[in-house]
Amino acid sequence: MQIGPYTITAIEAGEFALDGGAMFGIVPKPLWEKKIGVDARNRIDMRLRCLLIRGEIGGKKRTILVDTGMGTKWDAKGIDIYRIDYSRYDLLRSLAGAGIQPTDVTDVILTHCHFDHAGGATTAAGEGQIAPSFPKATYYVQQAHWEWAQHPSDKDWGSFMAHDFLPLMEAKQLTLLAGTDEIFPGIGFRLTNGHTAALQHPLITDGTTTLFYCADLLPTSLHVGIPWIMAYDIRPLETLAEKKAVLADAARNRWILAFEHCPLVAAARVEPTEKGYRIADVVAL
Ligand SMILES: [Zn+2]
Repeated sequence: MQIGPYTITAIEAGEFALDGGAMFGIVPKPLWEKKIGVDARNRIDMRLRCLLIRGEIGGKKRTILVDTGMGTKWDAKGIDIYRIDYSRYDLLRSLAGAGIQPTDVTDVILTHCHFDHAGGATTAAGEGQIAPSFPKATYYVQQAHWEWAQHPSDKDWGSFMAHDFLPLMEAKQLTLLAGTDEIFPGIGFRLTNGHTAALQHPLITDGTTTLFYCADLLPTSLHVGIPWIMAYDIRPLETLAEKKAVLADAARNRWILAFEHCPLVAAARVEPTEKGYRIADVVAL
């Protein structure tokens, strides 16, 4: 897909699975189960769908990656719990398929530092060392999120693994952002605080076509349903308000919503219904 000077491609970085009940919060299983199946351990299929944004800015080629999947620093227990599976899709393989080597990546936008978004940001480099996976890239995280990631609550500490993000600071490859300003022409942010503190959603626009990267505000297309809110969220009522505001803007302005974790739909536009919103048309990424 083309938006202004940017060519945008979905990068499938792997598959995993999370508890269906946790994914849909208060929605009863008989309702969500009609839309998505579970495995023997009540988990639903999930994707790790990153975004690759390529373009020339000020005569310089930029290769921008949005989120990095779960990475490869997992032990057998983690692989089992989250059913991490790189047999079909893999971050570096998908990038190579798009003609991109790790050293080509100039910028990495991390929506937030949860392990299923920042896990691929760093890689084990031997002898107990962990290094940035993209050695020439600048990584971007919101300052307020960076602080939260190091001092999470007793509820969400399990979603943060310091080895995913602290090496970025140590390698001096981290830029902390404060707010929604564009970091490149036509690439700005919207911030939400319901899922975690200061989650940054890339908002890419050329004035005509706009793409909003949902990250964990709407992790799947099923989360377009207003009360379909993950149990993982630290402030679910804020998620509710933020989601309603994003969906209203998306319906009104024909935004393309990109779903990071959805096994069913990669991207879509939405339209209002009597009760809320629904997927209007699916968009290929
Ligand atoms: Zn998250």
